[in-house]
Amino acid sequence: MSKKILIDLAKFRGTANNGEYNYGECTYDFHPDNIGMKDIIEQAMMMVTCRRCEEAPCINVCPEEALEKDEDDILKRATNLCIGCQSCVAACPFGTLSNRIITDKKSICDLCDFEDDSKPLKCMNSAPEGAITYTWEEPMSEDHIYKLNDKILIKDLKWEDLKE
Ligand code: SF4
Ligand code: SF4
Repeated sequence: MSKKILIDLAKFRGTANNGEYNYGECTYDFHPDNIGMKDIIEQAMMMVTCRRCEEAPCINVCPEEALEKDEDDILKRATNLCIGCQSCVAACPFGTLSNRIITDKKSICDLCDFEDDSKPLKCMNSAPEGAITYTWEEPMSEDHIYKLNDKILIKDLKWEDLKE
């Protein structure tokens, strides 16, 4: 088992202010306004919350062809194409996409080195309590924990879980 970061989306949602999350702060010096967690949450919503519509209205409405699905049927947004028009946000019948997150800018999480326990990540200290933690767990669908990438796990109810 390897150490990872666990992002609890419900804890972000629970403290959102007028739809805006407290993403915490980033340490990447070259991007002082970097909010890498925003990108992580976008990816998590597209992986966990999105219902994978067959004829996806979000993709069809996008005037810049900035949205597409990857080989696992997961939605991806190309920010070099996206103009932040919010048409996809309006077109999604399930409210998956947040107008606070789908903007024409995207700050990428730099995946800070988190091997040293004596230095908690800046985002952990500044995001809502318990929203970003270390974990040694592995992805477990029965606990609603899913793998986003090799370093990050996402905890949230998948929309399929809500039907149970
Ligand atoms: S916000 Fe971006 S991704 Fe969404 S429809 Fe507009 S250009 Fe496309
Ligand atoms: S319309 Fe909404 S639920 Fe459907 S694929 Fe797009 S983001 Fe996902």
